Formats: sequence, structure tokens, C-alpha cells
Amino acid sequence: MNDAVNGVYINGAWRAGHEVLEVINPATEACLALVSVGDARDVTQAVDAASQAFIDWSKSTGRDRGALLRRIASGVSARREPLMQLQARNNGKPLFEAAIDVDDVVATFEYYAAVAEAMDATQDVAVALPDEGFSARLRREPCGVVGLIVPWNFPMVTTAWKLAPALAAGCCVVLKPSEVTPLAELQLARIIADAGLPDGVFNLVCGTGLAVGAPLAADRRIAKISFTGSNAVGVQVMQRAAETIKGVSLELGGKSSLLVLADADLELAVELACGGGFFNAGQMCSATSRVLVADSLADEFLQRLQTRAQGIRVADAFAEDVEMGALINRAQYQRVLGHIRRGIEDGARLLCGGERPADLPKGYFIRPTVFTDVPLDSALWNEEIFGPVLCVRRFATEQEAVTLANNSDFGLVASVVSRNLDTAERVANALQVGMVWINAPQVIFPQAAWGGYKQSSIGRELGPWGLAAFQEIKHVIRSN
Ligand code: NAD
Repeated sequence: MNDAVNGVYINGAWRAGHEVLEVINPATEACLALVSVGDARDVTQAVDAASQAFIDWSKSTGRDRGALLRRIASGVSARREPLMQLQARNNGKPLFEAAIDVDDVVATFEYYAAVAEAMDATQDVAVALPDEGFSARLRREPCGVVGLIVPWNFPMVTTAWKLAPALAAGCCVVLKPSEVTPLAELQLARIIADAGLPDGVFNLVCGTGLAVGAPLAADRRIAKISFTGSNAVGVQVMQRAAETIKGVSLELGGKSSLLVLADADLELAVELACGGGFFNAGQMCSATSRVLVADSLADEFLQRLQTRAQGIRVADAFAEDVEMGALINRAQYQRVLGHIRRGIEDGARLLCGGERPADLPKGYFIRPTVFTDVPLDSALWNEEIFGPVLCVRRFATEQEAVTLANNSDFGLVASVVSRNLDTAERVANALQVGMVWINAPQVIFPQAAWGGYKQSSIGRELGPWGLAAFQEIKHVIRSN
């Protein structure tokens, strides 16, 4: 217990929890750290502290909250390198990917700092009524104490997308990081703790989903749960939250398509397929798992894709020229290999990859994998794989491509490659997803909304929608 890092921060104080968990480096399978994690008792105390702090914090000015968010952004910026290193070690992602994560966190806190600073002028706005006997104003208020539950694939980013708008809105927070990747999160929490937030505004309880996440979702004093993770756990969170009619925001899984239209730039299409499929070793809710290619281009596209995928350097996050790192842990590694095996049994044709690289006997590595001729009713085509696996199918018409892309329980994102922007925009409008990239990599800006249709999401993060998720609306009407 003595060697363990304290994984509980409540009311401005760090402390040990009630159990110690090992944190693993997925590239070496070695233990990186021990973290002392909390349970339901800590959740209760964290919610106590947050409820008390909410009395004053909810009355603070947007200007003051903005200044604190700016301090967090510059604290993260100043610790960019160590945060990248921690993220690379704990997640197995190459340093260049870890850098994107840290920069995204900075951009998100800066964006919501500006949003908070602009809020004082717009907290109350007049509402035009059709009856001169009355006048009304609309007031936006923080919704209360909120619980934030995040996954392991982009730990700091998924945290920032919830935490920055929640603090900007004037909410107090209890954050539960993934038990798999708490290290960069703990460092981020130290930066937040040093930024000067009043005690109790930000609380953190590391721990497992059952010991910490479940009681957080059940606590009746929590106004809202914002959850990012799997659909299976999303259902449980919603069920628990339903018992006290809590608001929920859910960011869940995806099965997203890249549509390569007949006039596409093939080189760009191959780059986008590899970026969408193999970034973060494919462990992305927005992963390009379906690639739909126009018949006329398919043979050449597949040839180029295979060459590119086979040339991707898979290695430890710190190795020179590394392009793709390890998967997060043994369970995920075995799950993805299971999907690959089952895909072959179901009749899909394995073009390349599908196994561990020969030069990496240790660590949870899988070579970039490409399947073609994937049966439409197979698990490989329909379920979220969350690993470096692309499934390619050909299409004859634009309508067929759109139908193939839309035929999913998910609706998170899609990408379109075409030289004709009118065509690309028309296809973008026909896709049932929350975000479409045209001839572009999966760039994300805090100003634009994040979230999807169907079973991918409830609500939207980022932009003004991310803030609205943490606000209540009040109308005050008076007789004139
Ligand atoms: P997960 O659902 O297993 O865990 C997510 C979080 O929920 C973790 O902190 C976990 O400890 C906690 N949890 C587990 N059981 C719980 C319970 N019963 N009650 C409350 N909390 C509980 O997901 P994961 O494996 O960490 O992440 C991968 C999933 O996240 C994928 O499905 C991916 O698509 C999704 N994801 C979605 C987005 C998005 O923006 N849509 C972004 C990133 C990840």
C-alpha cells in the first residue's frame, strides 16, 4: 500500500483509497505503477464535498471561472512533455499521438475559458412574448453536481471534453477515470488542483466501474452523469440513473465508414483509411472500420492499401519511426484476435495482418489488418471491433454506398473521398452520423459538436452543445 499513488482527491486533499490496482504498460506487459483506488464510501464523500462547494461555485462569475480554466490550459501546456510520456507509457500510443491528445486538452480548456468569459453578458436574455401584459427572461444556470465517467482510449481528452464545459457552466464535479489508464489523468488532476479551484469543485475517485462508477451513477444528489464508454456499460449507467431521473449524456461506440467514391484521389483515400483505421491502434469510437470503395477503383485501392498497411511500423511507443503502438491490455488484445478469427470463419478474406508482428514477442501488438469480401451479416461487419482492423467492400452506385454505410445500429462518424465537392456534400447529407469529414483526416475542433446518431450517443459534446449539457434553463415571467 505504501508504494501506491493516491488515487482519490476530495475537497482539495489527496488520499489513499481502499484497494490497490496495478497499472500496466501494454507494450512491455510490466507493471508501471500501483494506484490506491476508492469505492462507494469515497464517492459519497466526494459528492458531499461537491454539493457543499456548489453553493458558492454556482454563483461565481463566468469571468472568474474562465480565468481558472485558462490557468488549467497553461498548466497542461507547461507539462506537455511529461503528460505525453505518461500517456504513451500507460496507453502504448506513439508519442506523436500522445502529443495530439495533450494539445487537444489545451485547446478544449482554452475554448471553454473563452465561453465562460462570455457567459456573464448572456446569462439572462430577454424573451419576446406575444402578450404585452407580460415580460420574460431566460436564465441559464449550472445543473448541479455532475458525475463524469471516462474510458481508457483517450483518457485525458474524454475527461477534458466533459470537465472543461462542466466547470465553465458552474457545475461541481466528481470524475471517475478508467481504472486501466489513471496515470495521465492523475497528473492532469494535479494540474487542476494547482490551478486554484475552490476545494470541492473538482473531485476525483479512481477505481473500477462497479466500485466507483456504479455508485456515482446511483447517487441521488448527482444531477447528471456524462459517460463515455461502451454501449454495454452505457445501458447500465442509464438504468442506474433512471432510478433518480438523472440526466445522462452518453458517448458510446461506432461502426464508421469511409466512402471512396469513383472519382476519389486514391493516394488520399489510402492515407485516410490507414489514419482512420490504425490511429490509436484502431481503438477509437470513430475508427474507420468499414471502407466502401467504388467498383472501378477497388482493385487498385486494395493493392495500395495492402502495401501501405504492411509497411506500417508497429512498435513500442518510444521506438524510432513508430507508426502504431500496442493495444491497451490482454483482454482487448484477445478480443480483437477473437474477432479476426471469427471473421475468417464467417467467410471474410484476410488480405494482410491478423496476427502479432514476428519481431514483437511481448506486448499487446497486432499488425494492421485488412479484410475484404466481408459478409454483411458477420460480426466483423456489424460489431465494434476496437482494434486495427479495416473491412473493405465494393459498391456499384452512390446510393448503394450510402445504404451500406447507414445500415448500422451505430451512427457516429463517416468520411467521404471525392474530387467532386457537390457529390461529396450530397453524400455527407445522406449519411446518418453526427460528423462527416470530406477529403480530410479525422480532425476535431472544440468549436464543432462531437457525438452521433442512433446508438452512438445521447447528446453532443464540445461547442455550445457541450456547455448546454451542463446547464438548466429557467424562464422568469412577470406581469407588466
Ligand atoms: P467501458 O464501458 O468498459 O468503461 C468506460 C468507463 O465506465 C470506465 O471508467 C469504467 O470503469 C466505467 N464502468 C464500467 N462499468 C461500470 C458500471 N457498471 N457503472 C458505471 N461505470 C462503469 O469502456 P472502455 O472499454 O473503457 O472504452 C471503450 C469504449 O468507449 C468503446 O466502446 C468506445 O467506442 C467508447 N468510446 C466512445 C467515445 C465517443 O466519443 N463516442 C469516445 C471514446 C470511447
